[in-house]
Amino acid sequence: MTTIVISGRTRICGIMGYPVGHSFSPLMYNAAFQERALDYVYVPFAVEPVLLPAAVEAIRALELVGVNVTVPHKQAVLPLLDEISDEARLIGAVNTVINDSGCLIGDNTDGKGFLRSLLEQSGCNPAGKTALIIGAGGAARAVAVRLALSGVKRIVLYNRSKERAAELAKLLIEKTGVPVEVALWPEKGAKSLLAPTDLVVQATPVGMTPEQNSVVPLPDSFFRPGQVVFELIYNPEQTILMQRAARTGALVLNGLGMLLYQGVLSFEMWTGEVAPLEVMRESLQTCFNRRT
Ligand code: NAP
Repeated sequence: MTTIVISGRTRICGIMGYPVGHSFSPLMYNAAFQERALDYVYVPFAVEPVLLPAAVEAIRALELVGVNVTVPHKQAVLPLLDEISDEARLIGAVNTVINDSGCLIGDNTDGKGFLRSLLEQSGCNPAGKTALIIGAGGAARAVAVRLALSGVKRIVLYNRSKERAAELAKLLIEKTGVPVEVALWPEKGAKSLLAPTDLVVQATPVGMTPEQNSVVPLPDSFFRPGQVVFELIYNPEQTILMQRAARTGALVLNGLGMLLYQGVLSFEMWTGEVAPLEVMRESLQTCFNRRT
């Protein structure tokens, strides 16, 4: 057990969400601040939706370094900030706020965290590659925008319902110029006619605990050696989709790395120091082991 010492100079950051009790972030960041001997502390802020404007104003009033923003505030926080990064505006959601002497800047590190995890854990550079993204919600949006900005050759959005996928496809084509196709999940029993892609990103909750037996409708023939299959779920650590893909020789990753690198990015934005990656990874893994 480590002890955090709060001094008169301690700088404060944290996470705003509702609820936030389940968050792994406080342990991960506080371990990192201690490792770097930084006089910073990271605390959870449970902010009811109706109080979000007051909570954002408090970032200025209390001179917080910045905050992470999570469900249900990621979209609602946008009009309350002074500046929004291009990526966060494209995604339509903010997950990190930086307080630059009272000017609140919103960014989104979901896609950047995903990319860093992909590069560092699989060595796969998506430039010039084809990608299938399963889902069209917030996470799929962040991943798709980042892949498009990273020079991916073509994106196939594979979603259960048409509306959200069509809206995301339109945004990607108009704002980034990347070619995008939409494919819908087949009706029960029907076969999917998708052609294999270099990269597969699973960005729906299908397969997540407690429904770990549910699986996305992709045939085994979709997977192949050399393909990278990135599952955004990290609970369970191995989904059925990951097991099936791994059996064919595909390289599989779960979402813990994406979570870790988002933390690394916020840490670096707030402190200007290189994040202690291994300490952050260990504390995330400890939180995860305790929980399951
Ligand atoms: P979201 O905005 O609610 O979007 C959910 C997407 O999944 C939609 O495309 C939805 O399809 C589809 N979906 C949901 N339930 C489904 C079901 N039963 N059958 C088929 N499709 C279903 O959620 P999100 O924020 O994008 O999160 C998606 C996943 O990514 C979650 O598992 C989340 O934990 C994970 N995630 C991980 C990280 C990380 O750091 N590793 C970060 C963010 C999210 P429709 O359009 O048809 O409704």
